[in-house]
Amino acid sequence: MVRPIEAETVRLKAYRFQLQPELAQAASLFAWSHALRFLWNWMLAQRRDAFRASEGRVRVSYHHQAAQLPPMKAVFPWVGLVPSQALQQTLLQLDRAYVNFFEGRAKYPDFKRRSGAAPGIRWPQGVEINGRCVWLPKLGWVKARMSQRLEGIIKNATVRFDGLRWHVSIQVEQTVEVPAKRETPEIAIDLGVDESIAVSDGRFFRLPVASKAEERRHSTLCRRVSRCVVGSRRHARAKRRRLVFVRRIGNRVNDARHKITTTLAKNHGRIVGEDLALRRLTRSARGTVDVPGKNVALKARLNRALLGQGHAETVRQLAYKLSWCGGELTKVNPAFTSQTCPHCGHVCAQNRPTRDRFSCVACGHNSHADTLAARNILAAGQAVSARGGSREPAKREPTRLRRSLRLSAGIPAL
Ligand SMILES: [Zn+2]
Repeated sequence: MVRPIEAETVRLKAYRFQLQPELAQAASLFAWSHALRFLWNWMLAQRRDAFRASEGRVRVSYHHQAAQLPPMKAVFPWVGLVPSQALQQTLLQLDRAYVNFFEGRAKYPDFKRRSGAAPGIRWPQGVEINGRCVWLPKLGWVKARMSQRLEGIIKNATVRFDGLRWHVSIQVEQTVEVPAKRETPEIAIDLGVDESIAVSDGRFFRLPVASKAEERRHSTLCRRVSRCVVGSRRHARAKRRRLVFVRRIGNRVNDARHKITTTLAKNHGRIVGEDLALRRLTRSARGTVDVPGKNVALKARLNRALLGQGHAETVRQLAYKLSWCGGELTKVNPAFTSQTCPHCGHVCAQNRPTRDRFSCVACGHNSHADTLAARNILAAGQAVSARGGSREPAKREPTRLRRSLRLSAGIPAL
């Protein structure tokens, strides 16, 4: 099939490969990531202290901190061993973390622990690849498992240790045709716990999340970790075993997720999904509302611990994959979509006698609860586009309780 070419556009794409550094290279990478963690913590403390001491009037800038790098290298010679650009990139990351905090997109940046996630080591230029290796300035050629052909101009590379292995993420700039708008069937998805994704056309997709047996195994592994002396070799070994186990499940889930989102994005022009931020307010731990069982909450917690459903990631993948093939993702407020009868419009919690059955108490309409929720989401999405495009769900009038809470919190009511 030949699609009409409208124009060309530039997009960024990241490829992630496992690195297989030599012993000496791995030693350098570990040393650098510890130095970068030190730099992050030092500069974060400096920003925090300056902000506090001036009661919020002084904000330390990136340039102010970058100017401190040369004297810092003189005092801590091991900081000078790190590629200079990686040091600057860490300061830029910190600066971005601050901007995100002040603009309300993120929480306050954290100090990084030795045992936690280290800042990635980023090279903003000078990265090259050949068939088997990645060239990283100051480190040299590093063996990598190049599982895909890279297309585009290399913009930067970030190297990270995930607790078991080193990975490199290479960002490239690709010039691609703007895909033509597609007129394929419109669907909606409902994201759940038992059936991970219920599609409005009656299909279900289930992510291979941790089984009962795997949950038991996970708690055994956790117990073993907690019974070791912290810092001992036995402790390190137990933690590693647990990480290998959790990572295997996570990889399995992520692989399945990619396959599902690719299939959906390739076959549909528009997908309507729930706005997850609003869902949290309206339908707390889904399932606990429907069936007030104890196991639901427990299972939800376990799922989260073992990289459970990860709905936000599913939505993120759908959004970018759809935009790459000319489709679009619409988000709607999911309030009451699992309780509304599509036949008579009756809204009632009793419409759901069990977790997966929907049976209207007013007209007797019967359906699978998740499919029905997806159909309601589809209807909501179509109503949004019929209204003329504004995809922001209508804001509800604040109730008296919420209004008074807002006032007591010192935030002026609108
Ligand atoms: Zn009904």
